[in-house]
Amino acid sequence: MYPEAFEYFSPETLEGAIELLSQYGEEAKVLAGGQSLIPLMKLRLASPKYLIYLGKIQGLSTIQEQDGMISFGALTSHAEIEESRLVQSKLSIMHDAVSVIGDVQIRNMGTIGGSVAHADPAGDMLAVLFALDARVNTLSSKGKRTLKVDELIVDAYSADLAADEVLTEVLVPVPQEGSGGAYVKFERRAGDFAVASVGVQVSLKKDGTCQDIAIGLGAVGLTAIRARKAEALLRGKQVEDDLVKAAAVEASAEADPFADIRGAIDYKRHLVGVLLKRAFEIASRRARGEEVKTAHF
Ligand SMILES: Cc1cc2nc3c(=O)[nH]c(=O)nc-3n(C[C@H](O)[C@H](O)[C@H](O)COP(=O)(O)OP(=O)(O)OC[C@H]3O[C@@H](n4cnc5c(N)ncnc54)[C@H](O)[C@@H]3O)c2cc1C
Repeated sequence: MYPEAFEYFSPETLEGAIELLSQYGEEAKVLAGGQSLIPLMKLRLASPKYLIYLGKIQGLSTIQEQDGMISFGALTSHAEIEESRLVQSKLSIMHDAVSVIGDVQIRNMGTIGGSVAHADPAGDMLAVLFALDARVNTLSSKGKRTLKVDELIVDAYSADLAADEVLTEVLVPVPQEGSGGAYVKFERRAGDFAVASVGVQVSLKKDGTCQDIAIGLGAVGLTAIRARKAEALLRGKQVEDDLVKAAAVEASAEADPFADIRGAIDYKRHLVGVLLKRAFEIASRRARGEEVKTAHF
């Protein structure tokens, strides 16, 4: 199907984009990689009268480490993140996730800012950003805002962004030494959205005690979920199999999935437990300095 007619703008500055968004309000939409918005427009589930393309604006697709943070310009593509040495060496959890987003074409076009703003509950990026305590910077006619990703995402497909607000940057704290991460996704076929997914970032002491842990669940709720009760079970404890099994049970209970074409509620809860154990094992091995390849299931 063809989208409804729209007017197209490609401003060369952020200020220009915000001016257009202020002028057209709810009738305008920002266009980034177009991998979610264009399909919605073709299905006529979205029919913005004005499209404001961000791709001509310089400086929005950078990956940089500064002051203990790794920052991603909103237009950084999934492929650029996948290929980044910085991400490969310091954010394995994110590297795992971007490597399993859709296919090569989707990863070449889709952006981190678009993934966050679109807030798809089954998207791969949000579970990771929840687990990494990521923040976003935004700009609107009212000025700049910084907020945590889990405050920005308010519901399925719903981010707390004003009509004239552009997400400009995603900021991730650099994990400390001795920390390792992993993201595992269960999909029905290669390139599909997750049936369920789990991201784990864990710091281990030399004696095997879990110093800190963060767990993000994807595709098992209206938004990504932080499995805080499962985290609390593991934090500060000597990690043993029974404890990890108990944390897996807890995380399954914290998941809040709905039944859909990808599976029933009980099946998705069960998957959360299985994936947590796998993600925890890989993250722990990475925390100990082992090189473990991205996990595909
Ligand atoms: C076949 C297919 C398979 C896919 N598989 C996966 C998958 O396995 N996992 C996964 O996570 N994703 C998947 N995706 C989605 C993909 O990751 C998209 O790239 C992503 O969801 C949106 O990014 P985008 O840059 O394309 O955003 P767009 O489609 O351009 O925009 C999406 C929404 O975000 C808004 N927006 C975009 N950028 C900004 C910004 N900077 N500030 C404010 N608002 C903004 C737009 O207005 C729009 O509402 C798939 C998509 C397709 C078509």
